Amino acid sequence: MKVKCPTCGKEIEYSSANPWRPFCSERCKLIDLGEWASDGYVIEGDPGSADRMTPEELESVARYTAEREERKGGRRR
Ligand SMILES: [Zn+2]
Repeated sequence: MKVKCPTCGKEIEYSSANPWRPFCSERCKLIDLGEWASDGYVIEGDPGSADRMTPEELESVARYTAEREERKGGRRR
Protein backbone atom coordinates (compact mmCIF):
# COMPACT_ATOMS: atom_id res chain seq x y z
CA MET A 1 0.00 0.00 0.00
CA LYS A 2 1.32 3.41 -0.99
CA VAL A 3 0.63 6.55 0.99
CA LYS A 4 1.73 10.12 0.60
CA CYS A 5 3.93 11.61 3.27
CA PRO A 6 1.76 14.25 5.01
CA THR A 7 4.74 16.59 5.24
CA CYS A 8 6.42 16.51 1.84
CA GLY A 9 3.92 14.58 -0.28
CA LYS A 10 6.40 11.93 -1.31
CA GLU A 11 4.90 8.53 -2.02
CA ILE A 12 6.10 5.86 0.35
CA GLU A 13 5.30 2.26 1.07
CA TYR A 14 3.11 2.04 4.15
CA SER A 15 4.54 -0.98 5.88
CA SER A 16 5.90 -2.02 9.23
CA ALA A 17 9.33 -1.78 7.67
CA ASN A 18 8.98 1.98 7.76
CA PRO A 19 9.22 3.14 11.38
CA TRP A 20 8.21 6.68 10.38
CA ARG A 21 4.97 5.76 8.61
CA PRO A 22 2.90 7.47 7.43
CA PHE A 23 5.84 9.84 7.00
CA CYS A 24 8.74 9.16 4.65
CA SER A 25 11.41 9.91 7.22
CA GLU A 26 12.10 10.91 10.78
CA ARG A 27 12.63 14.46 9.58
CA CYS A 28 9.13 14.72 8.11
CA LYS A 29 7.63 13.21 11.23
CA LEU A 30 9.39 15.74 13.43
CA ILE A 31 8.33 18.60 11.17
CA ASP A 32 4.72 17.48 11.40
CA LEU A 33 4.91 17.23 15.17
CA GLY A 34 6.34 20.71 15.29
CA GLU A 35 9.44 19.45 17.02
CA TRP A 36 11.77 20.29 14.19
CA ALA A 37 11.82 24.03 14.79
CA SER A 38 11.58 23.96 18.56
CA ASP A 39 14.17 21.34 19.32
CA GLY A 40 17.32 23.26 18.58
CA TYR A 41 17.24 22.75 14.84
CA VAL A 42 17.92 25.78 12.68
CA ILE A 43 16.13 25.91 9.36
CA GLU A 44 16.63 29.53 8.40
CA GLY A 45 19.86 31.43 8.34
CA ASP A 46 23.40 30.22 8.42
CA PRO A 47 23.72 27.15 10.60
CA GLY A 48 26.52 27.50 13.07
CA SER A 49 26.68 31.27 12.82
CA ALA A 50 26.19 31.51 16.57
CA ASP A 51 29.30 29.43 17.06
CA ARG A 52 31.30 31.94 15.12
CA MET A 53 30.19 34.89 17.23
CA THR A 54 32.77 36.34 19.56
CA PRO A 55 32.02 36.48 23.31
CA GLU A 56 31.68 40.24 22.94
CA GLU A 57 29.07 39.84 20.22
CA LEU A 58 27.14 37.27 22.23
CA GLU A 59 27.21 39.63 25.21
CA SER A 60 25.88 42.56 23.21
CA VAL A 61 23.09 40.41 21.82
CA ALA A 62 22.22 39.28 25.33
CA ARG A 63 22.27 42.86 26.55
CA TYR A 64 20.06 44.01 23.68
CA THR A 65 17.58 41.22 24.39
CA ALA A 66 17.52 42.05 28.10
CA GLU A 67 16.96 45.73 27.38
CA ARG A 68 14.12 44.94 25.06
CA GLU A 69 12.49 42.69 27.66
CA GLU A 70 12.91 45.43 30.25
CA ARG A 71 11.23 47.98 28.03
CA LYS A 72 8.35 45.60 27.38
CA GLY A 73 7.93 45.01 31.11
CA GLY A 74 8.10 48.72 31.84
CA ARG A 75 5.27 49.45 29.47
CA ARG A 76 3.14 46.85 31.18
CA ARG A 77 3.69 48.37 34.62
ZN1 LIG B 1 8.28 13.31 3.74
